[in-house]
Amino acid sequence: MAQLALVIDLNKCVGCHACATNCKAWNTAGVFGPLTDIEPYSKKPYGVWFNRVQTYEVGTFPNTEIIYLPKSCMHCKDAPCVKVCPTQASYKRKEDGIVLVDYKRCIGCKYCSWACPYGCREFDIREGIMKKCTLCLDRIYNENLPEDERKPACVLACPTRARIFGDIDDPQSLASQVISEFMGYKLMPEANTSPSNHYLPRRQSKIKIDEDVVNVRDYAIVTTEKKVTSYKVLIAEDIAIA
Ligand code: SF4
Ligand code: SF4
Ligand code: SF4
Repeated sequence: MAQLALVIDLNKCVGCHACATNCKAWNTAGVFGPLTDIEPYSKKPYGVWFNRVQTYEVGTFPNTEIIYLPKSCMHCKDAPCVKVCPTQASYKRKEDGIVLVDYKRCIGCKYCSWACPYGCREFDIREGIMKKCTLCLDRIYNENLPEDERKPACVLACPTRARIFGDIDDPQSLASQVISEFMGYKLMPEANTSPSNHYLPRRQSKIKIDEDVVNVRDYAIVTTEKKVTSYKVLIAEDIAIA
């Protein structure tokens, strides 16, 4: 049984929001839309976004830096949103582990959004139902699309290739290989939901390149030479296809 998920490399994310906007565009036009927007240019806009990019400033002035954290449903293996749903509108697919909402069964009670520790449920006040990331189910199995476009819209839009999509339970997939090679981690493991999406930690890289940084980077390449090389080759092939 597969577990499809996203792996997001925080070292590569530049916070451009291309993933969020392409997600919004694809899903608004597709079978899981429209993703409602109410008064988007007012002081109190209300919109449904499956994917949001959060921005944090860390450190103490003047030594601060900005961290970007793209976040969407983690497709948890032990999903509390599924357990609490009184109508079984929330469910987890056996064949690929994607967590979905059956809009026809949803009564808009919001129990699932209270149960989700990641804030990844999006209530559509216009339709009165709960929505969320589907991992672009209507793209990844769409045989009318060229094979290299059968990926979530966010992955295709990312200009820095910070997003990797695949089966994290398949040791041969790029997603699971980068998790093990680059110390991929789960957000808030203490919530005991076993999230499937993973993040690759920010590595030390400053604009001012000093000797320490060069040494750290050399060390990483020497100790994991084979795997790092293979990761770079795969990414390069991906860019060439796109
Ligand atoms: S991230 Fe939230 S909405 Fe997604 S599966 Fe986990 S608990 Fe459910
Ligand atoms: S809002 Fe819909 S999906 Fe969420 S718990 Fe209620 S019925 Fe289930
Ligand atoms: S598109 Fe890529 S670089 Fe831009 S915010 Fe999303 S993950 Fe980060």
